[in-house]
Amino acid sequence: MQKQIVDILKEYNLKATPQRVTILSAIHKRGHANIDEIYKDAKEKHSTISLATVYKNVTSLVAIDLLKEVALNNFKSKYEINKKPHSHIICKKCGSVEDIELSESIKKSASKVVQGRDFLAEDIELNIYGVCQSCKLS
Ligand SMILES: [Zn+2]
Ligand SMILES: [Zn+2]
Repeated sequence: MQKQIVDILKEYNLKATPQRVTILSAIHKRGHANIDEIYKDAKEKHSTISLATVYKNVTSLVAIDLLKEVALNNFKSKYEINKKPHSHIICKKCGSVEDIELSESIKKSASKVVQGRDFLAEDIELNIYGVCQSCKLS
């Protein structure tokens, strides 16, 4: 995993600083993580790391598209390592985020929405909101 993180940084011509590696490892491990979660994991490895440092690093990694922000309505944004376009199911109660892939037929129907406009649809990402399994049980 560490090697993979170093490779990703190399791809973006970034030095594998301990902060970056720690932050990306935390996000990689969780799939989607908010600043507090990243900070909590980072702090376990580097007790001196500050929330401001985590925030600064995450912001700059978003700016170069290495990280992608998943904006959540009632919760702090989560971040994920950028990969091919995909959709999310999002729990409105706990803010959990899970990746899903849309079938080609769903994508086809969705792209019909822009038919008749002077617009070329390339990627389709959906957020589906609801209640996750563990929130449903509690
Ligand atoms: Zn939930
Ligand atoms: Zn995702």
